[in-house]
Amino acid sequence: MCNNVLTFENISFAYKGKKKEKITPILDDLSLTINSGEFISLLGPSGSGKSTIFRLITGLEQPTSGCISLDGKKEINRLGKVGYMPQQDMLLDWRNILDNAFLPLEINGFTKKNKKAHVLHLLEEFGLKGHEYDYPHQLSGGMRQRVSFLRAMLGGGDLLLLDEPFSALDAVTRLNMQEWLLGQWEKLEKTVIFITHDVDEALFLSDRIFLFSQTPLSSYKEIKVPLPRPRKLENLLSPELSKIKSDLLNELRQQVKL
Ligand code: ADP
Ligand code: MG
Repeated sequence: MCNNVLTFENISFAYKGKKKEKITPILDDLSLTINSGEFISLLGPSGSGKSTIFRLITGLEQPTSGCISLDGKKEINRLGKVGYMPQQDMLLDWRNILDNAFLPLEINGFTKKNKKAHVLHLLEEFGLKGHEYDYPHQLSGGMRQRVSFLRAMLGGGDLLLLDEPFSALDAVTRLNMQEWLLGQWEKLEKTVIFITHDVDEALFLSDRIFLFSQTPLSSYKEIKVPLPRPRKLENLLSPELSKIKSDLLNELRQQVKL
């Protein structure tokens, strides 16, 4: 049985421009469904509207028409109900790691004094133990990403939205983080929607990839990744995967005009 976590029904959206400015639609009649426990990647050229999809899911923006439901319910304010890791880590420099991670809980009225005890097991999982009272500028890029990820985990329900979380990392750290993320996803039984423009990353992580080609976003091509889990990086070298990868790259290249 399919348990739908998220549904977009005929969603259209445009950012409101200044007076007399032409308004360009970003989404036009887009529908999609995501099932419980899936790992989905949204792949598409930059500027196509991927981050806007997340802003619509969280309720930071509202669609001009259509319906968004979470767990089968149509709700206007969804920000507290999903974990959201925005494209920039947006850590607050003047707050230590614990206080940064707890920000969404504070906004929701969390007042517990002993924050550390509350998330001790997660601090360890996220490789942040011993750094609870450090400030963001004292951390490496990978650690900052993990704080931002922890904040997303603490902030929402079972759906996690990750917007290009690893794009600023060097290649090796990035691979380590991808493997770590898959481990967390399998253990914590979350549903993940992951934005990337990296084809290898999307193939390695996802059950399904939604490839967005035209703007405004109105439909997408769905690619089911035929790899067993747990995954290994070597899996990406199989002839079947190489063929899928070259098809994806060709489609993406057609959309990016020099
Ligand atoms: P992506 O994440 O795929 O790179 P975005 O969703 O960030 O794309 O942006 C899609 C389009 O919407 C871009 O043309 C961008 O300039 C525009 N846009 C994004 N945010 C805003 C905003 N707050 N106001 C007006 N236009 C915006
Ligand atoms: Mg973006």
